[in-house]
Amino acid sequence: MEPIKEEKSLNFIEEIIEADLASGNYKSILTRFPPEPNGYLHIGHASSIWLNFGVAQKFGGKTNLRFDDTNPVTEDTEYVESIKADIKWLGYSWANEFYASDYFEKLFSLANQLIEQGDAYVDDLTPEAIAQQKGTPTEPGINSPFRDRSVAENLELFQQMRAGKFAEGAKILRAKIDMASPNMLLRDPILYRIKFAHHHRTGDAWCIYPMYDFAHGQSDAMENITHSICTLEFIPHRAIYDWCIAKLGLYPSHQYEFARLNVSYTVMSKRKLLQLVNEKHVSGWDDPRMPTISGMRRRGYTANSIREFCERAGIAKRDKLNDISLLEFCVREELNKTSYRRMVVFDPVKVVITNFEGADIILEGENNPEEENSGIRIIPFSKELYIEREDFMENPPKKFFRMAVGQSVRLKSAFIVTCTNVIKDEAGNITEIHCTYIPESKSGSDTTGLKVQGTLHWVSIKHAIQVELREYDRLFKSENPAMEEGDFKEYINTDSLHVISNAFAEPALKEATESQRFQFLRKGYFCKDKDSSDEKWVFNRTVTLKESFSKEVKK
Ligand code: ATP
Ligand code: MG
Repeated sequence: MEPIKEEKSLNFIEEIIEADLASGNYKSILTRFPPEPNGYLHIGHASSIWLNFGVAQKFGGKTNLRFDDTNPVTEDTEYVESIKADIKWLGYSWANEFYASDYFEKLFSLANQLIEQGDAYVDDLTPEAIAQQKGTPTEPGINSPFRDRSVAENLELFQQMRAGKFAEGAKILRAKIDMASPNMLLRDPILYRIKFAHHHRTGDAWCIYPMYDFAHGQSDAMENITHSICTLEFIPHRAIYDWCIAKLGLYPSHQYEFARLNVSYTVMSKRKLLQLVNEKHVSGWDDPRMPTISGMRRRGYTANSIREFCERAGIAKRDKLNDISLLEFCVREELNKTSYRRMVVFDPVKVVITNFEGADIILEGENNPEEENSGIRIIPFSKELYIEREDFMENPPKKFFRMAVGQSVRLKSAFIVTCTNVIKDEAGNITEIHCTYIPESKSGSDTTGLKVQGTLHWVSIKHAIQVELREYDRLFKSENPAMEEGDFKEYINTDSLHVISNAFAEPALKEATESQRFQFLRKGYFCKDKDSSDEKWVFNRTVTLKESFSKEVKK
């Protein structure tokens, strides 16, 4: 069933931008996507990318890519590269590539400006003491005894912090705002901390690093970002954002918030995804079960379908959980239009065409009936074939239109065959199914006038290639593992990967490339995995043909 697609009206961010442009407040808009390079991008980031790049495109503006690399401990160049590759793959290009770390010198001088204005001070309190003196939402906090240091002393101490004179945690720089503010974040927020850590870009040049609240808004302002879009948890931070920009007299960037995209049966924080990788619950960031862009790409999801999903999920002002089946619907909808049809037998049983004599027959099959000009592929037909074991029944119920003794079926793109008898081994297992075929019944030039109910997929044994198929299920048994009691990893579905190693594919699949998408007839959508080699073909199931998942994950 197709989810209803609403008339495309503007979302609330687009409405704001449209009004800003109409009022003449801005001649053009500039947004930014600001990932922290501490992990791979996930589908939640895709929503932010779609929004930031999408609104800019829509209103003739531009988008910067800015790496928010102010925490040297967790960040890495590997992540920078993967993030760039993922954004490009999603189909977006940025106007400029910036790094918050490029602004360290400028940020340092802005911090000095705040100190000179009497708006920031160096505090010697320990983090514990600061937390204790912070107060509660209903009780004001207590001023630090270091709050009234002179400007000269603060400037000197801040220089010494930068020069590495103090140990980590010994001193911090705080904004002097209001220890009684109802917004706890305005109770003298921390602007800089000491960290003797090697930074992936600035190396050991710095031992003090700006906090998010000081780096982000100032970076936006330095780039003249007009609309700085972030997620709802930053609402209380907006006051610091505005305070810093006003105090420093910078370009007035504005922050707007939307709800994070959440998707059912998975987790969406890089910290949690990193645990799955490090603890080997998955094979890596690009494991096809991961909600990462790289995982989804490897699984066969397309950039189009991910963008379509972001569009359909839309953006909200309140958190909600989006059903993973909407994403799968988008993937299926696209793959049905674009994927090449191929035949693969997952659980083979041998069929012998007893009246087949002479040379093999070269048949043709459409690559994609949904797409004109998609061409044809060659399908060889010979005396010995494989069909699915489950497509034959010895004692079929009524309405079993597949293969049974005395019954006729069509082999897809080939002939009508009639089953005559079966051969069994000593244990009673069927080893061969014997059939006769009708040479005049060839698909496309059938002159028999016969009507058969069932059509089966098949492969010619001597032409087939053996392939490994990987079928994926939900990575979690819980719809919202992050919200469950206890550790989210207790809710991992330990049966989420099903490997079929004895499957046989028609020979056209030898030529498959990783960027191609396939529909294995009657089975599902698949793509070739990077684990394939010249002798080994591995295919990932991208998605089933139809929505089949019930809320109960099978044990
Ligand atoms: P995570 O919690 O997964 O680590 P993050 O917010 O720390 O995410 P960042 O690299 O800081 O990750 O995010 C870059 C941008 O992507 C930010 O603007 C952030 O708000 C946005 N973003 C992150 N997760 C989501 C999500 N689930 N939905 C929408 N936007 C998101
Ligand atoms: Mg972050």
